[in-house]
Amino acid sequence: NAGMNAQEIGKALHREPAEIVKKLFMLGIMVNQNVSLDKDTIELLAADYGIKAEEKEVVNVSDLDKFFEEEENNKEHQEDRAPVVTIMGHVDHGKTTLLDYLRNSHITAGEAGGITQAIGAYQLKKDGKTITFLDTPGHAAFTAMRARGADITDITILVVAADDGVMPQTIEAIDHAKAAKTPIIVAINKIDKPGANPNHVIEQLTGHGLVPEDWGGDTIFVEISAKMGTNVDELIDMILLESDVMELKANPDQNAAGSVIEARLDRGRGPVATLLVQQGTMHVGDPIVVGDTFGRVRTMMNEKGKNLDKATPSTPIEVTGLNDVPEAGDRFIVFDDEKTARAAGEERAKEAQMEERKKNNSVTLDNLFDSI
Ligand code: GDP
Ligand code: MG
Repeated sequence: NAGMNAQEIGKALHREPAEIVKKLFMLGIMVNQNVSLDKDTIELLAADYGIKAEEKEVVNVSDLDKFFEEEENNKEHQEDRAPVVTIMGHVDHGKTTLLDYLRNSHITAGEAGGITQAIGAYQLKKDGKTITFLDTPGHAAFTAMRARGADITDITILVVAADDGVMPQTIEAIDHAKAAKTPIIVAINKIDKPGANPNHVIEQLTGHGLVPEDWGGDTIFVEISAKMGTNVDELIDMILLESDVMELKANPDQNAAGSVIEARLDRGRGPVATLLVQQGTMHVGDPIVVGDTFGRVRTMMNEKGKNLDKATPSTPIEVTGLNDVPEAGDRFIVFDDEKTARAAGEERAKEAQMEERKKNNSVTLDNLFDSI
């Protein structure tokens, strides 16, 4: 039935809910067992089990009670999590300068000099609250992630240079944020420059549906100088304000799941992946499937190169221990045991290979030998 969740489907099929969640994951759908699924997903799942799903209207009062009870219990486990923020904007409008300023201005004394890694994401703390910044290299990576279904950003910071105004990539960034349904905070940058004209930028953006509160809209604008650090603290406050309103939550008490931010092959350490934990808590030693790859988390560190033994939702981490290099935007999920993780990883790799072969239906020597 449409609306059933993995737990209920598990019961109906006499399977463990965790198995249903894993199956869904292998089909490319990342949900926890309490999320109700749409008809197509249930049919897909059922087909995978060789069963034809039939839609039936069964409203059983005791089931409903139980369902709401579970939902409530589930909420009890939900805890506040840090917002995940992406900085976008036209080339040369100051994205890197802003990220660098943020990174450097919020290093505590003990950390200074301890920054050895640049892992594509980092966390910043202000007034006891944390913000996770994604340091993705430009729009291409963001687009790739979105194409793979990984909408991992909660808030977009749109940087627009006050001496240059709205440019093609500004509009592209607005479109991305709208498609991903993330709120936009506008940072009008370079206000220290003699030619700066913030009002002109506001006028231009109003034409793209971004209207400041003073002008009757609901978009937050902050006028900054990323170079001098002017008003950057206000920008951070605005991010925290916006994220408070969004009431971002996740359940830390389950197997970790999330997305790949970037990954590469390191000569000494093998495949290295930067992951964002979105649900649950990740531990060193966890058996994991990441896209079409699998393994066991051998090492886990934060952006400062500090070893962690656990990582909660919204934490970016760098892990080693995978059998291969996953792709940006791939999903990951932790399994209860390594055997199942390996089986799932191998199955996914096989499926990916078959897809690849279907795509290249011309036979080359290479894939001919591959298939023997
Ligand atoms: P990105 O392409 O968006 O990452 O832009 P960058 O951060 O690389 O900045 C492009 C140029 O603008 C660099 O030369 C920066 O020093 C300069 N810049 C960035 N922010 C400011 C600012 O607030 N004021 C001034 N005067 N220059 C800035
Ligand atoms: Mg840059």
